[in-house]
Amino acid sequence: MTSRIPVVEKILSANDRLAVENRSRFDAAGLFSINIMASPGAGKTSLIEQTVSALKGQLCIAMINGDIATSFDADRAAAAGATAVQINTGGDCHLDAVMLQSALPQLDLNQIDLLIVENVGNLVCPAEFQLGTHKSILVASIPEGDDKPYKYPGMYRGVDAVVINKIDLLPYVPFRMEFFKKGIEALNPGSDQFELSCRTGEGLQPWLDWLTSQALRKA
Ligand code: MG
Ligand code: ZN
Repeated sequence: MTSRIPVVEKILSANDRLAVENRSRFDAAGLFSINIMASPGAGKTSLIEQTVSALKGQLCIAMINGDIATSFDADRAAAAGATAVQINTGGDCHLDAVMLQSALPQLDLNQIDLLIVENVGNLVCPAEFQLGTHKSILVASIPEGDDKPYKYPGMYRGVDAVVINKIDLLPYVPFRMEFFKKGIEALNPGSDQFELSCRTGEGLQPWLDWLTSQALRKA
């Protein structure tokens, strides 16, 4: 009797293949890249503004923003000191590797230390589309409620770090931090977590240190 050894081939989807291409371009340029995801209004752009303002003296930062219609967020990042490129998705509710690749010719990747991609505000599908970025960050915020890891497990499972924004609102909003973090830990054990407020600046430093150390490691 002959036994057959099944050959398991991992067939990459078209998107994943392009994500791999994007990654190798980032690696060739020696830049560190992050994909920031969140629901609308959690504070992705505020986090980017604060990050760019704090780190622009140390790192050359570029930002690619995916939005359904406007360029408000890219304008805010540019005002804070980043080179900003806008992708209007024309109604699409997430960025994919093709859209990201189409924006890259507008940037001199060799000059960039940190590339921040702001995804479309959506807690469902952005995590399903690899972009080729090195790390995925999810921004959660206190007013959204402490049940989000339980309701949107797909988003929380796929990310490397969770930024918990708007902690200045903790005295006013019912939010069980322990319950929230238990949900993250169950889906994503050992992921990095940062509690901060983009409005007051409280808690920003550990996030900035984490980002800087990752970016310097790539350079
Ligand atoms: Mg935004
Ligand atoms: Zn989508």
